[in-house]
Amino acid sequence: MRKIFHFDSPADPYVADAAVLCCFDHRISQAVRKFLRKQNIERPDMIIVAGGAKTLASPRNDFEQDFILEQVRMSIRLHQTKRVLVMSHSDCATYGGLAHFKGDRAAEAEHHRTELHRAAELLTANFPDISVEPYFVKFDGVWEVLPNAKASGKSALVGERAC
Ligand SMILES: [Zn+2]
Repeated sequence: MRKIFHFDSPADPYVADAAVLCCFDHRISQAVRKFLRKQNIERPDMIIVAGGAKTLASPRNDFEQDFILEQVRMSIRLHQTKRVLVMSHSDCATYGGLAHFKGDRAAEAEHHRTELHRAAELLTANFPDISVEPYFVKFDGVWEVLPNAKASGKSALVGERAC
């Protein structure tokens, strides 16, 4: 091997502040990074894959869901992760973008709320001791999906709040 770049990285073992599952869409990456910092998550185990939460909620195949669950399991085992943030985002190409909802942002948000709940329930079922937090990333910020939104019968946007 031949060294082509010098950079001193911290070599000490660490405890992850959270595992973060989100889409690789570059348009949201900065918002996610800044949001994590605001949440005091300095050492995240990033699980960045096309679709983010979709890989758990509506996987393309069984392999995809199992693979992502295994990644979360590894973060818990190797880095003592106690918290999982699961995210999806507006205009995500894996859902056919906003166009799939005919430009209706409320319909899109409602669909993602259902998806995020399903992903969160799967994570909680697999890892009962872990705190699971679903978020919807829009182009104006990060929206928390409240756990009681469905039960209270409120609309998608009433049941969410910007973080
Ligand atoms: Zn996406």
